[in-house]
Amino acid sequence: MSTLALQNFIAGRFQPALSGETLEDLAPATGRLLATIPRSRKDDVDAAVAAAGAALPAWARTSVAERADLIDAIAALMERRLPEFAEAESRDAGKPISLATSLDIPRAIQNLRHFSREVRLRGEESFPMAGALNIVHRSPVGVCALITPWNLPLYLLTWKLAPCLAMGNVAVAKPSEMTPLTATMLAELFKEAGAPHGIFNLVHGLGPEVGQALVEHPGVKAVSFTGGTASGAKVAATAAPLFKKLSLELGGKNPTLVFADCDFESTVKGVARAAFENTGQICLCGSRILVERSLHDRFVDAFLKEVAAWMPGDTSDPGTKVGALISSAHREKVEAYLRLAEEEGGTLRCGGKRPDLSDDLAGGFFLEPTVITGLSPTCRTATEEIFGPVVTIHPFDTEEDALQMANGVRYGLAASVWTTHLQRAHRVAQKLESGLVWINTWLLRDLRVPFGGVKESGVGREGGRWSLEFFSEAKTITVKLD
Ligand code: NDP
Repeated sequence: MSTLALQNFIAGRFQPALSGETLEDLAPATGRLLATIPRSRKDDVDAAVAAAGAALPAWARTSVAERADLIDAIAALMERRLPEFAEAESRDAGKPISLATSLDIPRAIQNLRHFSREVRLRGEESFPMAGALNIVHRSPVGVCALITPWNLPLYLLTWKLAPCLAMGNVAVAKPSEMTPLTATMLAELFKEAGAPHGIFNLVHGLGPEVGQALVEHPGVKAVSFTGGTASGAKVAATAAPLFKKLSLELGGKNPTLVFADCDFESTVKGVARAAFENTGQICLCGSRILVERSLHDRFVDAFLKEVAAWMPGDTSDPGTKVGALISSAHREKVEAYLRLAEEEGGTLRCGGKRPDLSDDLAGGFFLEPTVITGLSPTCRTATEEIFGPVVTIHPFDTEEDALQMANGVRYGLAASVWTTHLQRAHRVAQKLESGLVWINTWLLRDLRVPFGGVKESGVGREGGRWSLEFFSEAKTITVKLD
C-alpha cells in the first residue's frame, strides 16, 4: 500500500503545514511507514484558531436542532464507512481489526449520536423565588482545544468533539501524531456533510509544539485534554494562569479486587479482559490484580491458562485478540518495567518476550502478555502506570488490606471488584478512591454517567450533562416578577 500524505484541516480546507515540514507515522503491526503528517507549528495553530474564531459567531447562533442534525449526519456518514474507518484505526494503532470494528468505531458513532440526543433533550434550569425567577442560561465557551492520545483515537476525539459542537462551540483538535488517520477521515466527513467551514479544525504535529501552542493560545478558551499525567501537569501549568476552562483525563494504575466468594469462571475471564484488552493500552485496564489469599494460587493457575487465549497475532485476522504496542519506544519502556520487576524480586510467570511472528509482522512492536507475581504491592512496578500487556498479582488477607493496597497509589481512575457478596460490593465500592468502580464487570459504559478520575488521574468529569456543562458557561438571569 502506498504511503498516505495526510494534511491539516483548517477553515474547511486540507492543507500542509505552513513550513512544509512532515513527520512519519508508522504502522505498529509492521513497523513500516504508513503515512506522513504535517509537522505543524505555532503559525499553523494561529491559522486554525483564527478559522475557528471566524466560524464561532454564526455557529453559536444556530439552533440546537441544526447542530444536532449535523452531528447526526456525520454519524450516518461514518456508519456507512465503518469498515474503512475500522481498518484505518486498526492499521494506525496496531490494534486487532475485531476490536476496531466492535469497539472503537461503533463507539465513535455512538458518541456522536449520544450527544446530539442529549443536547436535543436538554432544558434550561430555573429556580423560582419569592417575587423573582432565576434562569440558568448556558452559552458556548468559544474556541476549544481538543487534545487526544493514541490508544483510542477516534473514540476519544468524538467523545470531546460531539458535546463541544453540540453546545455551539468550535474546535481545534490535535490528535496524537502516532494515530492521525481516523481524525483526518473525520475531517473528510465534515467536508462531505457540507459543515460550515472552521467549526472543526485539525492540526497535526507534536505535543510540545502544536499541543503546547494550542494550550497557550489566547484565542482558545477551553482545553479538553486526555493523555498521560506528566503531560496533563504541563497543560495545567500553562492553562491555569490564563484562566481557561480545563478538563484533564489522565493516567491510571487500576486495581482489580478478587474476593474468594467471586463467581470463579466469569471472574477469571473478566479479569483477563480488563488486563489485556487493546494490549493493556486503555487507561481503564486493571493492571494490579489483588486476590484474597485463600483463592490466590487457584486464581493464578486459572489466570495463566486464560492468558494463553490472549496471544498477539496478525491484527487483520478477525480471530486475533491482542495487537501490537503503539511504538518501538513504548515497547522498550514496557520491557524496562519487566527488568525492573525482576530487580524488585518479581517472577515473570508467563510472557515477557517478543513473539516470534513471521513475514510482515516480524518488524511489528509486539510483546507477549506478561503476568508477574511475588512483588510487594508498594514497589514501582506495582504502582506506576506501565500501559502495556503487563499485570502484577498480589494476595491480600482482609477487606481492609485489599482497600489499603488498592488505594495506595497516586492514581484513582477505575477499579473493578469481583464478589457475589452484595453488601461487600457496595461497601468496598464506597471506600475505593476511584472515579469509576465496576462490580463483576469491566468497561461497561453508559454514556449518560460521569466519567473521570480522582487524585492524579484527572480533574473534572466528562459524559452526559457533565460534558455539556464543561463545554458551556452558565449565566444566571434573575427576573423580578412584580
Ligand atoms: P501523552 O500525554 O503523551 O499525549 C496525549 C496527547 O497530548 C497527545 O496528542 C500529545 O501529543 C499531547 N501532548 C503531549 N505533551 C503536550 C503538551 N505539553 N501540551 C499539549 N499537548 C501535549 O499521552 P499518550 O498519547 O502517551 O497516551 C497515553 C496516556 O493517556 C496514558 O497515561 C493513559 O492512561 C492516558 N489516557 C487517559 C484516559 C482517561 O480517560 N483518563 C483515556 C486514554 C488514555 P504527542 O502525541 O504528539 O506527544
